[in-house]
Amino acid sequence: MNPYSLDRYQRPELEPPEGGERLLMHSCCAPCAGEVLAAVKASGIDTTVYFYNPNIHPVKEYEMRKAEDIRYCQELGIPHIDGDYDTDNWFDRIRGLENEPERGRRCTVCFDMRFERTALYAAEHGYGLISSTLGISRWKNMAQINQSGVRAASRYPDVRYWTLNWRKQGGSQRMIEIAKRESFYQQEYCGCVYSLRDTNRHRQASGRERIQKGIKFYGRDALTSDIPGRGEYPAFKGSSNS
Ligand code: SF4
Repeated sequence: MNPYSLDRYQRPELEPPEGGERLLMHSCCAPCAGEVLAAVKASGIDTTVYFYNPNIHPVKEYEMRKAEDIRYCQELGIPHIDGDYDTDNWFDRIRGLENEPERGRRCTVCFDMRFERTALYAAEHGYGLISSTLGISRWKNMAQINQSGVRAASRYPDVRYWTLNWRKQGGSQRMIEIAKRESFYQQEYCGCVYSLRDTNRHRQASGRERIQKGIKFYGRDALTSDIPGRGEYPAFKGSSNS
């Protein structure tokens, strides 16, 4: 019997650090947001989600991930702020790092950019605390994410980055359970065009098909619009290999 599964876990109240009266949570996607937002909601932390991910390529994939993020926030009653999709700036910052491996220097720059904008928004709108759903993913280097977050927050005297390990106490397991319960869209690469390229290379080298975007959902096999709230999003119309 697993004490950490969604139906058994008794969540202890989270204690945010100083400045935690208002939390601005950077969200990368609904699957990562699932457990993190459930946890802050259960602790009554005044949270707003900031979706700022100009790394995601192509735009159709971006729209699908964003639509799922919005749908989940609406379900939880958490405000959702739609940041810019300023891909030109993202490509400018990444230039020269196109062939870095995942978790390498390109990812540090990518995290820096997303957290710098999150911290700026927090400072301009009176949020004393920021954090990110990125840290719950087991594919990511948590130390690398936390360092970027702390660096971004340190630009502003009244903003802190919350380095809580969201994976602990069964967080990683509940992340998957919530993703299945919600039938979230299941992306198959980190997000940028280079991660798409490298994942496809890896799949081809091991005899697997290239990624087909827009067709995989946790707990389901194929594209569907019969999930409540999903049919209204144009992004979920058809799949693409482009
Ligand atoms: S692999 Fe992911 S974290 Fe790294 S640069 Fe690409 S989108 Fe950003």
